[in-house]
Amino acid sequence: MSARILVIDDIEANLRLLEAKLRAEYFEVITACDGETALAMARTSSPDIILLDVMMPGLSGFEVCRRLKDDQATQHIPIVLVTALDGRADRVAGLEAGADEFLTKPIDEAMLLARVRGLTRLKMAVDELRLREASGRRIGVIASSAARLAGGGGRVLILDDNARQAEKIESVLQAEHRPVLEQSPGLAHAAAKAAMDLIIINLDSAEYDGLRVVAALRSDEATRHLPILAVMDTDQRQKLVKAIELGANDILARPIDPLELSARVRTQIRHKRYGDLLRDNLDHSFELAVTDQLTGLHNRRFMLQKLGALVARAAMGGEPMALLMVDLDHFKAVNDRFGHDVGDAVLAQFARHMSTHVRAMDIACRAGGEEFVVLMPNTGLEDAHQIADRLRIYLAGEPYALGEGQEQLAVTVSIGVAATLGASDQMDAVLKRADLALYEAKAAGRNQVISKAA
Ligand code: GH3
Ligand code: MG
Ligand code: MG
Repeated sequence: MSARILVIDDIEANLRLLEAKLRAEYFEVITACDGETALAMARTSSPDIILLDVMMPGLSGFEVCRRLKDDQATQHIPIVLVTALDGRADRVAGLEAGADEFLTKPIDEAMLLARVRGLTRLKMAVDELRLREASGRRIGVIASSAARLAGGGGRVLILDDNARQAEKIESVLQAEHRPVLEQSPGLAHAAAKAAMDLIIINLDSAEYDGLRVVAALRSDEATRHLPILAVMDTDQRQKLVKAIELGANDILARPIDPLELSARVRTQIRHKRYGDLLRDNLDHSFELAVTDQLTGLHNRRFMLQKLGALVARAAMGGEPMALLMVDLDHFKAVNDRFGHDVGDAVLAQFARHMSTHVRAMDIACRAGGEEFVVLMPNTGLEDAHQIADRLRIYLAGEPYALGEGQEQLAVTVSIGVAATLGASDQMDAVLKRADLALYEAKAAGRNQVISKAA
């Protein structure tokens, strides 16, 4: 898993050193030696990760960080701030500026690679979501809602068998979040499935194997996206690297610094909410998969959603709307005589005829089988009835080609019409009136239109 990394440092020697270390691990490296250049490169070279020195003349690292996170084009790129060795204040300021990670100088190779690998994984996942979302053309909406995401009010689960430490974490977080304490990994894992925003795990427990808990949370579908903040003694390098490899999102060093704790928690919760937002929108766009495969018309799901919205608008005093329920007459006979494939072709042709004949503002849908619905915004019952009758006559006159040299088939329809009645009307009631009207049209001999006023 390689990535393109933008390294920013005002000291040439530092740049070369980092570049060499990262190249050795097959990362692609681009460099900048001041903030302005870095901002331009971040926009044009789409790096996967940015390594940013805090101490620079001109624009400081914090300022560069803030601007990157304010810019819709770059805000999704993870940023690692490189700070001085005991730069706790710097870290807190960096988190406030939107940094995702920290490295302290002199840079430890194992830490560097662990951080970069962890962030590459995160970036790949977010990119994937953004890509799918971009095709839905809603990325702008996402970005602007993401900018408003807060990192407070989170449900934070704390797994820690060290009572004093657990209580300290709880008391720090209480002012801003809703922390819950748990001592056993089994119970914590169960609780993690219940709409948590973050889990904090003490990795230096004597009672359980913290790394195992991290691995279990990551392999469980229900907790895969839950951010993990691991609390540990950071001198244990190997364990730290392992924790990040297994999927811990962030590490908090012991003894715990309250400011750093709350800043890291806020950042993780903000990330989580961003991921949730992207995923929700993705689910939403699948749910809105709106097209019927055979006919290319809107499908039933879309029809119901749109109808619900139109009826609600009419009920709140907006324009009335009408609905045509259109059913092919004796369609079963077409299948029986010519076969199901021909039946399909007839349905597809029928849909084309119908959708080219309705008005531009009308919405033609396939409700299912050989039944279609036309939604007519801003239309009353009488008008809808007239349009329906014109549609019926037009459709009956359209021949269907069944193949070369074959006979031509005529297809007629029966149509039931209903319109919204006012404040108390509901979608189901409108559908039911149209259905009854259609039933009456069939009973009265087919190839006709009947409307139901109430
Ligand atoms: P009616 O005038 O009462 O509507 O008679 P009908 O034969 O059209 O109605 P019925 O509900 O008895 O049968 C509907 C037929 O439509 C049966 C079914 O095989 C056919 N049908 C439904 N969906 C499809 C489809 O996707 N493709 C094809 N080829 N046929 C379909
Ligand atoms: Mg039918
Ligand atoms: Mg039918």
